Amino acid sequence: MSVRLRPVLASLPAYVPGRSVPDAVKLASNETAYGPLPHVLQRIGDAAVQANRYPDTNSVELTEALAEKYRIGAGNVVVGCGSVSLCQQLVLATADAGDEVLFGWRSFEAYPIVSAVGGAVGVRVPLVDERYDLDAMAAAVTDRTRLIFVCSPNNPTSTVVAGADLVAFLDRVPSDIVVVLDEAYAEFVRDPAVLHGATLLDRYSNIIVLRTFSKAYGLAGLRVGYGLAADPALATAVRQTQNAFAVTQVGQVAALASLEPEAERQLMERVDEVVLERGRILDELRSMGFRLPDSQANFVWLAEGEAADGLIDTAAFAAGCEERGVIIRPFVGDGARVTIGTAAENDKFLSAAAEQTSVRTAS
Ligand SMILES: *Cc1c(COP(=O)(O)O)cnc(C)c1O
Repeated sequence: MSVRLRPVLASLPAYVPGRSVPDAVKLASNETAYGPLPHVLQRIGDAAVQANRYPDTNSVELTEALAEKYRIGAGNVVVGCGSVSLCQQLVLATADAGDEVLFGWRSFEAYPIVSAVGGAVGVRVPLVDERYDLDAMAAAVTDRTRLIFVCSPNNPTSTVVAGADLVAFLDRVPSDIVVVLDEAYAEFVRDPAVLHGATLLDRYSNIIVLRTFSKAYGLAGLRVGYGLAADPALATAVRQTQNAFAVTQVGQVAALASLEPEAERQLMERVDEVVLERGRILDELRSMGFRLPDSQANFVWLAEGEAADGLIDTAAFAAGCEERGVIIRPFVGDGARVTIGTAAENDKFLSAAAEQTSVRTAS
C-alpha cells in the first residue's frame, strides 16, 4: 500500500531538476549576473560566524530600515523568506478550503502552486496581448474570492499594468479582498505610466506590495523578500503564517547592507546597465524578425505562435539555444523567457538567436 497523500499534490507540475550544462551561459532564472557587492560580502562573512545562533525571527532591524525607506510604520512591513514565501503565507492567511485565489495566466509559476498547496482554488484569467487583463480579473471576482495576485512587470511576459488601469481595478474590487501587487521587478521599470504600489498604500486598505532582494539587489541565494501592507492587521496575519526563523541572519544582514545609500547607488547602476542592454536586445531581436512585447523587467519574452508572424516554436528555440551554450527558460505552449545577463552573455544569446531565425521563418 502506498502512503496516503493529499490528491491535490498530483495536480501540481512535476519537479524538474535545474539543467546543469557545464560552461553554458545561464539566462534562465532572472538572477543578477554579478555577485554581491564587496562590503555586502564582508557583512555576510561576519554574520556567518554566528551561524550557531538562531536568527531574529522578526527581522526587526531590517523591518525598521524598510519602514524608513518607504516612510510607513514598521507594523505595515513584513519580511519573508523570499517573496515567494510571502505569496504562500498570503494564501494561508486569507483562504480557507475551496476559497478562490485569482491571478492572470500565464504569470508567476508559484501562484497556482501556493494556491493548491494552501487548499484554495487557483483561478487563472488569461492574459490579453501578453498583458494582465484587469477588466476580466475584476469580472472574475466571486463571493469565494479571497486573494488576487497582480504581477507587474509580469513574469514571464515582461509587460506592465498601467497605473490608471490598476487604480480603476482597485476601485472595482471589494475592499475586503486582499490584492497583492507583486513588484519583484519594480526597480527595472522605466515606463512613466506605471504606478508603484507603495504610492497607493494610503488609498487602498486591502493592498499589499511584494518586493524582493532576489532580483535588482542580487541576493537570490539568500532568500529575502518583503511585503508592504496597507493594513497592519494583514501584515500581522502574514507574520502568523510564517515558519519560525524563516529568514536567516545572513540574509537579514546582507539585505540591510544592500539598503545603505552607497550600496543602493551601486546596485541601481547595475540595474541601469540591464535596462540599456534590454533595449539593445529587444532592438536586435526585432531586427532579426522576432516579435516581442516591450519589457520593463530584467528579461525579455519571445511568445510562441505561427512562425511566419515572428513568433517562435518554443521547444525548438530553447533546444537550439542550449546546443549553442545558452540556457533560457522555455514555457512550452506559451513562449520563452530570456534573462538579461552581462553584455558578453547577451551577445552569445543574440548569436544563438541569429542562427535560429528559421525557427520563425519556416515551420
Ligand atoms: C522572482 C520573483 C519573485 C521573488 O522571488 P523570491 O526570490 O522568493 O523573493 C516574486 N514574484 C515574482 C513574479 C518573481 O518573478
